[in-house]
Amino acid sequence: MKQEAIGIEQLLASLPKYYTDEDRETVKRAYELAALAHANQKRASGEPYINHCVAVAGILSDLFMSADAVSAGLLHDVVEDSHISLQEIREKFGSSTASLVDGVTKLKALPRVSRNDQDDDFFEEDDSDDETNLTMEQLSKRKKMLSHETLRKTMVAMNKDVRVIIIKLADRLHNMRTLSYTRPEKQRRIARETIEIYAPIANRIGIGEMKWELEDLSLYYLEPEKYKEIAAGLNERRAVRTQQMEKIKKRLEETLLDSGIKADVSGRPKHIYSIYKKMKSKERSFDQIMDVRGVRLLVEDKAACYATLGIIHSQWRPIPNEFDDYIAAPKENMYQSLHTAVMYEDNKPLEVQIRTHEMHQHAERGIAAHWRYKEGTRQRDQQYEEFLSALRNQLDIKNEDMNADEFVETMKNDVFDEHVYVFTPKGDIIDLPKGSTPIDFAYHVHTDVGHRCRGAKINGKLEPLNYVLKTGDRVVILTTKQGGPSRDWLNPSIGLVKTQRARAKIRVWLKKQARDHNLTQGRQMLEREFHRLGLDEVNLENLSHQLEYRNPDDMFVALGCGDLSLSRIVTLISDQKTPDDVIETSAPKSETSSSDAVAVRGLRGLLTQMAKCCNPTAGDPIVGYITRGRGATIHREDCPNILRASTNEKERLVRVSWGDASKTYPVPIRITAFDRQGLMGDISNLLNNEGVNITDVNVRVNHDSLKADIANIRLIVEVRDISQLSRVLNRIENLSNVLEAQRSRAG
Ligand code: MN
Repeated sequence: MKQEAIGIEQLLASLPKYYTDEDRETVKRAYELAALAHANQKRASGEPYINHCVAVAGILSDLFMSADAVSAGLLHDVVEDSHISLQEIREKFGSSTASLVDGVTKLKALPRVSRNDQDDDFFEEDDSDDETNLTMEQLSKRKKMLSHETLRKTMVAMNKDVRVIIIKLADRLHNMRTLSYTRPEKQRRIARETIEIYAPIANRIGIGEMKWELEDLSLYYLEPEKYKEIAAGLNERRAVRTQQMEKIKKRLEETLLDSGIKADVSGRPKHIYSIYKKMKSKERSFDQIMDVRGVRLLVEDKAACYATLGIIHSQWRPIPNEFDDYIAAPKENMYQSLHTAVMYEDNKPLEVQIRTHEMHQHAERGIAAHWRYKEGTRQRDQQYEEFLSALRNQLDIKNEDMNADEFVETMKNDVFDEHVYVFTPKGDIIDLPKGSTPIDFAYHVHTDVGHRCRGAKINGKLEPLNYVLKTGDRVVILTTKQGGPSRDWLNPSIGLVKTQRARAKIRVWLKKQARDHNLTQGRQMLEREFHRLGLDEVNLENLSHQLEYRNPDDMFVALGCGDLSLSRIVTLISDQKTPDDVIETSAPKSETSSSDAVAVRGLRGLLTQMAKCCNPTAGDPIVGYITRGRGATIHREDCPNILRASTNEKERLVRVSWGDASKTYPVPIRITAFDRQGLMGDISNLLNNEGVNITDVNVRVNHDSLKADIANIRLIVEVRDISQLSRVLNRIENLSNVLEAQRSRAG
């Protein structure tokens, strides 16, 4: 270990290239102040204390943190260990650096805990106090509370400025790297705290690099035998593995290049702790775990990720259930990647991770990468925005107008918000987001307790359900025997529920209740429509399967709540049944052909009209343009209006082709209406617009009624299919005075 101080030159040389001269000057001044403050102090290793400060600053600079954060890294121990005050730092380095130093200093002022059993203590580097009077039980209870307190304080600090935590993590990382110089009991204590608190925090904010190193170092001190065994095993296989990986890399690179994809392929490093965990949890042997090779492919953009996946899956057999799309659905900590596993040529599994270079930055540096983007180019900001918007979707935050800053705020509140710690009647501690109510508590305890929650006693006193819980409250939930949550609970202005977890459970319950109602509604709608169209023989079981519902009930529910439309069902039936099957004709069939009959792909029965601008005639290449409310207009493909169409308009183009002669079928329909002048004219106009011929009319007006005359109109109309019939009946029913329009029952 070096005994002399690391100079400033070394640190300056390692700073990010985009740092300005001013940034470098700031870091230099911070170094000078830290060197002065720690002038006579030494580390346990015997080297000058400033080396620790430089190392911490170096870790932060490797994460591309800004100059004020790197300066705060240099100064992080100054306030505690020297005569230099926070005020002085603020004057010399500004409030941002000062508040970071303050945050890190405050994190150290954690409560002390007994050191009676050294192995399990997980608090700060202090070994002075002595609480021999406490019983073991009191002690363990106290420790549990205090570990919560550590987390709570950490969360509070994180909420103010995540960078405080990143500095704290850098501090801890360097302390772990140099832990061999401390006493063995202390090593274990710090290692345990690291693996229980700091590694999970590094993971939560997505700094993968740090998480792995903290875990591996912790394991080294907590399970030295296991660690050495795994490390030796890795070492032994290193040469063979490297050779094997080189071959796989080359093969992958070539395969992808054949398809025009440039990918950086690298072997995925095996972390000792992850092997240890796998051996423990999956009860697999070291050799079994070693058989699994992992590669990481970095490609240009998202499209290339999916293209690469496709190529790999077509080349080697994918292993079922091993595919995860963390690009479409990023992990909580913003991690994005495609994961899959295939059977490689040698019949051993190969795990593959595919992501873009940007996603990789996030995987390694997490939130820390954000500051780099802030200082980088505009393009980077753009990508960050996209990233945030993906995350926004993931977190189900509906407010689209939220900008990136607001979003980060929201996320911080959601994830890092201050917590309250309350007690169950039995004395267990429950940790809830600040602002939680008795209902949140009830749902946390048990879903059923939540549903039946009607009141709450806080510290023995009856309180309203919108009471905001405070740390230390003892909560007793009063329940009814039956019943469930009310829709009001979800109303944010009443403030009865704070946590997403409780909200989700309430929604599930309400949805279930609504199901019965929607089912009845949906069934009635469908029965009525089928009756109107004279479709009695529809097999509901088959129909529901075709629409991808498990059974008719599910289909009715979807219909009742609006997830499924009647017209979709009608179109489906119309598309697969030839009209002859479903339209029984009472009159003899007629076949009419018209020169302008066109078939629109996927939209049978859509009203079409020929465009006046280009007048297509049979045989011309044509394209359909969906108009608002008038079906589709048919243009020649080379019509100038089509060629000039904007991107938006292009989306409304549909593929059409000249149909064979369009067949029509005569169907008798019956219309009941309060008679009025012009009614018959309106009906025939409507049919004319739809291109439907009327072949027979019979109107009978019933004068018996006291209030109004009832007209019974019977028509025979020539329709192309069920869809058209359904639409025509609907439109007729929407005419004023019409009571009902339906297909006459044959026979
Ligand atoms: Mn330190």
